[in-house]
Amino acid sequence: MNITNDIITQYIHSFYKPIDEKFRQIRETSERAGVPIILKETENFLTFFLGLTKPKNVLEIGTAVGYSAMVFANFGANVITIEKNENMAQAAINNIESMGFDSQIKVLIGDGREALENLNDKPNSFDLVFIDAAKSHYKAFLEGALPYCHQGTIIVSDNVLLKGSTASEEFDTKGRFRTNIKKMRLYLEYISNHPKLDTTIITSGDGLALSRCI
Ligand code: SAM
Repeated sequence: MNITNDIITQYIHSFYKPIDEKFRQIRETSERAGVPIILKETENFLTFFLGLTKPKNVLEIGTAVGYSAMVFANFGANVITIEKNENMAQAAINNIESMGFDSQIKVLIGDGREALENLNDKPNSFDLVFIDAAKSHYKAFLEGALPYCHQGTIIVSDNVLLKGSTASEEFDTKGRFRTNIKKMRLYLEYISNHPKLDTTIITSGDGLALSRCI
């Protein structure tokens, strides 16, 4: 289910405009192939936010085919993005090359937690962190990313409402996502009470948590 009423979601989608024809094609191909990329309303939120904050350096955990990484790069950011699945990472590299973003986006292949431990980048270097990989590891991704953040870095965690089931198990009808739900609840408590983070949760897309490093 959507966390907002379907009629409202469709209405909001009616205002969506793709960045350009190439982005439109990659979204369409990904959606048709069942590759989970950012929802249209999440893209709209991010592009608004990118226009406002103009981050120079972005860290992303969860690349898939590179769609959101290219959204960040399209706003002028340099992006380091981490993807565990080699086929997915290769598809991302191909898309990134064909869209001409290869000088701005570096795809690291590997598990987000390990890649963050071995990141050669200088600490304090990312202005925006986008967490969009395995839902049960968000806390580990956040902890791995924090040493590379500075005061004012914004950390966006996607899908934190897990189609409503973070708020109530009644939305997990078959009980298949119990572990993810439990871990996501702990994650939201953790970032909401973290002394170095100011966090708000918004009901856009599948739920976004926005945390500002203070
Ligand atoms: N951010 C992408 C976009 O909007 O275009 C979508 C990312 S998709 C929702 C999540 C991706 O995270 C998948 O491609 C999956 O293979 C990857 N992933 C899952 N667990 C991971 C991990 N532990 N480390 C790195 N990537 C992981």
